[in-house]
Amino acid sequence: MSHKTYDLPDGRLFVGGEWETGSGAEIVSTFSHDGSENRRLSGASRDDGERAIARAIAAQADPAWRDLLPHQRARYLTRIADGIEANIDRISFIQTRDTGKTRGETTALAMSAAGTFRYFAAVVETADEDLTTRRGDHLTMSVHEPIGLVAAITPWNSPIASDAQKVAPALAAGNAVLLKPSSWSPLVSLELARIIEEAGLPKGLFSVLPGAGREIGNLLVEHPAIGRVSFTGGTETGRRIGEQAGRKLMPVSLELGGKSPTIVFSDCDMDQAIAGVLFGIFSSSGQSCIAGSRLFVERAIYDDFVARLVAATEKLVVGSPFDPATQVAPLIGFEHREAVEAYIALAREEGGEILTGGKRPSGPGFDSGAYLEPTIVAGLANDSRTCREEIFGPVLVVLPFDDEADVIAQSNDNDYGLACGIWTTDFPRAWRVARAIQAGTVWINTYKQFSISTPFGGDAASGMGREKGRAGLRAYQRQKGIYHGLSEAPLPWARLS
Ligand code: NAD
Repeated sequence: MSHKTYDLPDGRLFVGGEWETGSGAEIVSTFSHDGSENRRLSGASRDDGERAIARAIAAQADPAWRDLLPHQRARYLTRIADGIEANIDRISFIQTRDTGKTRGETTALAMSAAGTFRYFAAVVETADEDLTTRRGDHLTMSVHEPIGLVAAITPWNSPIASDAQKVAPALAAGNAVLLKPSSWSPLVSLELARIIEEAGLPKGLFSVLPGAGREIGNLLVEHPAIGRVSFTGGTETGRRIGEQAGRKLMPVSLELGGKSPTIVFSDCDMDQAIAGVLFGIFSSSGQSCIAGSRLFVERAIYDDFVARLVAATEKLVVGSPFDPATQVAPLIGFEHREAVEAYIALAREEGGEILTGGKRPSGPGFDSGAYLEPTIVAGLANDSRTCREEIFGPVLVVLPFDDEADVIAQSNDNDYGLACGIWTTDFPRAWRVARAIQAGTVWINTYKQFSISTPFGGDAASGMGREKGRAGLRAYQRQKGIYHGLSEAPLPWARLS
């Protein structure tokens, strides 16, 4: 990580390959470390969206893109990956300004975005079509074709990585993509547009349209030309988009919220478990869909484990995202901090005991930023609202459990089903519990580790569909069966003479 500073994107939108000033509602991107303004820009209006869609339709149908073979499309993705890698420090700087995340984390997110483009270049170049088993006098095939126009709608917490997770497979699959990032973090997606433009992707195939969800987001979901929506965000928004997609009979993937359980058995390696629990909840200041926000500790070690956890939490370094020593940076902004603080107040009302944190850190360097101390709450029942609802901040609830059956029942007694962590040295037990938990991802003796090769997604209120992995490409294509007749005789049914 360097100490260089970079110019932020100038605030123009990338509308079907043209840099244009938006005509929608104003967006103010702020740096949550000190409340300073990064950029004031006009978001995308419906008109801007309509223009981007018209350009995308033309670009997607152009033989210059439509007729490319998979390995030729792969070259664009590789060039985009190269472009991201050449700009890691700049992207990290922009995203840290945009989201308040530490430079270490935004660097890792930029590197993961480059890896995602590289991975899907490899996937599309090596994905075979199927010659299916013949059951008659015809060759039977199953082939995959682009959907056409895909909308990618992303949240503010890890923009460059969630953008790449959608844009890379969708372009690899031969589509045009309209990306709508959150208004709280518009800048890094606009930087991605610059890199994609520089990589030479034909004009019109990619747009970046930050703006109000109910205006531009809604247009992208409702518009008849959009054939698929890939959404990451909150459960309430996801449900609404799912309903709209249902009416259109449009495929949609929904990566939504979570309230993920972490389970600590008494036979765990305690140091490993404490480090994993802390990273699982307090990295990204808890603003992570997969945050391990509900901790279950076996009663035999509960007091000891929780005491050590609290002591380790109090050693975490809260500070500026530009300070390399910082572990817990500010939240995305002041409005969101208030929402998290409302949950801490609720935890108190529900009878919870705040074991550590629960307030804003004070002193120079903190007072004008959206900082909040890492917070641990005990004494609540698993059915309290604090334990049921996603807080999306640095707030951990801890609960004791009696045995395997009890912890499986408590873990699954929640609307969400995104992730789970298990800490134990008993391998058969880890396997049994992993299979019994309602979650799209389970980590055993580790947490919050990701690989682009492993499908990811949620169940129940955490969404539907999977991203990543080789099958991630196919989610952006239509599958078609082709029967190629081999007989030279007419089909026997008609009476031709
Ligand atoms: P959000 O649902 O408020 O917004 C997400 C995106 O949807 C934004 O771009 C927003 O502008 C847009 N949007 C809002 N209303 C819309 C509408 N009516 N039509 C179309 N688009 C609309 O979520 P957020 O606050 O930006 O993000 C935090 C949430 O995202 C948390 O719940 C978190 O768990 C979830 N998340 C999930 C994953 C995952 O992979 N499961 C990853 C990251 C974040």
